[in-house]
Amino acid sequence: MQRFEQYIDGAFEDGSARFDSVDPANGAVWASMPEAREEDVDRAVKAAEHALRDGPWPAMTATARGKLLYRLADLVQAKASRLAELETRDTGKIIRETSAQIAYVADYYRYYAGLADKIEGATLPIDKADMDVWTRREPVGVVAAIVPWNSQLFLAAVKIGPALAAGCTLVVKASEDGPAPLLEFARLIHEAGFPKGVVNIITGFGPSCGSALTKHPGVAHIAFTGGPATAAHVVRNSAENLASTSLELGGKSPFVVFADADLESAANAQVAGIFAATGQSCVAGSRLIVESSVKERFLSLLQSKAEAIRIGTPLDMATEVGPLCTRRQRDHIEKVVASSVQSGAKVVTGGRAGAGDGFYYPPTILDCDGANASSVETELFGPVLSVVSFTDEEEAVRLANGTPYGLAAGIFTQNLTRAHRMIKRIRAGVVWVNTYRAVSPIAPFGGYGQSGQGREGGLAAALDYTKTKTVWLRT
Ligand code: NAD
Repeated sequence: MQRFEQYIDGAFEDGSARFDSVDPANGAVWASMPEAREEDVDRAVKAAEHALRDGPWPAMTATARGKLLYRLADLVQAKASRLAELETRDTGKIIRETSAQIAYVADYYRYYAGLADKIEGATLPIDKADMDVWTRREPVGVVAAIVPWNSQLFLAAVKIGPALAAGCTLVVKASEDGPAPLLEFARLIHEAGFPKGVVNIITGFGPSCGSALTKHPGVAHIAFTGGPATAAHVVRNSAENLASTSLELGGKSPFVVFADADLESAANAQVAGIFAATGQSCVAGSRLIVESSVKERFLSLLQSKAEAIRIGTPLDMATEVGPLCTRRQRDHIEKVVASSVQSGAKVVTGGRAGAGDGFYYPPTILDCDGANASSVETELFGPVLSVVSFTDEEEAVRLANGTPYGLAAGIFTQNLTRAHRMIKRIRAGVVWVNTYRAVSPIAPFGGYGQSGQGREGGLAAALDYTKTKTVWLRT
């Protein structure tokens, strides 16, 4: 059994308690993890506070911070296969996907490495001749970064990169469901040479570890990715320390296909949009909204593509869909699909959990037209596509905006003016037109409504980890 350690104040340690981690491909325990309790959280935050104020970190120039981030990016690249393998083993995300994602995790660190010395203040032309006034961008303070199980290395990178570029220190809490890749990543932080206490990496359970971290008086900012119900706890906790928050939450993203779209290419995008990461993706295109005149044709394209997907063990490079991360997750999906079918949804393909000990659920398509199916509104975080149809653009917009979420949306049409109208009317933080799931460190990412607040990626994200100090100097 492999054994992992937490990383606090530059040292690797066992944690107050231990818990077992399960391999989603077979349901068997494969690793032992350190469980951080309140005492560990307190030490981690104090280490980050000390590093922020008294260690070598605050005396480093922005360029020097950038160099450390470049070194970290190189290490991520050098250790990519080990990190990808651990993420696959501990979360069930297939090796094809973890290997591809780790490459752009390194890109994100490089992007923020380059930004570190471009975070600037301004001189202000105040109407007083004897006064010089300018602003300084200073680190916001100790950051608590909390991530869910899917894409942990990536979701941590979009927080750690800009926070370090801005000069902050962090306590990163890995998800209790599959923490191995982030605990291993701590070794790269160590090897890159960040001063002790600058980045601390722990894991533990939400109500104990997560809660102690988010209400800790030493935390100045909480960067949270997870579900909306957990976000509500986080925000309530932040009332105790008055930390600022950025929230990247769930989604039920619409995938709108007009009759004039290139249906073959839209079908490929839809299949990848919903079934990649076994549907455990915040931007999963989980609601297909298709023009009724092409619905049958489009559904038959989707069905044949979904049924050709290779389901298998996640460490096999040929596998295209693997297991879900937890049994809990598979049970949740089974329940929502069963109740949707009872409410009149028709199963086009899939719809029944795999046999055996792994947490498998097959690519599933539900035709929900005329049904009152809960799968159309509930975020399943699994490989289930709910389909509804429309007859005109007005109806497409109404359906697309018909949930409290607003993370991402896909629009498929060859009509450019219609695409522009849709872009303006759809409530979502990211709109992809004739493509889906593209990401870049340069492009901001985040949600409207229940999908969250704040943006990750881009320059603005680094500025969110700063506070402005205004200086008045009598000359
Ligand atoms: P979750 O909300 O249950 O857990 C997320 C993290 O919060 C975990 O580390 C957990 O331990 C911690 N946590 C739980 N209770 C807490 C508490 N009371 N205080 C502080 N921390 C606590 O989410 P999940 O089920 O692990 O992940 C799935 C959710 O994440 C989905 O809703 C998905 O859409 C969302 N997500 C969003 C994005 C995005 O960028 N918008 C990306 C990936 C996932």
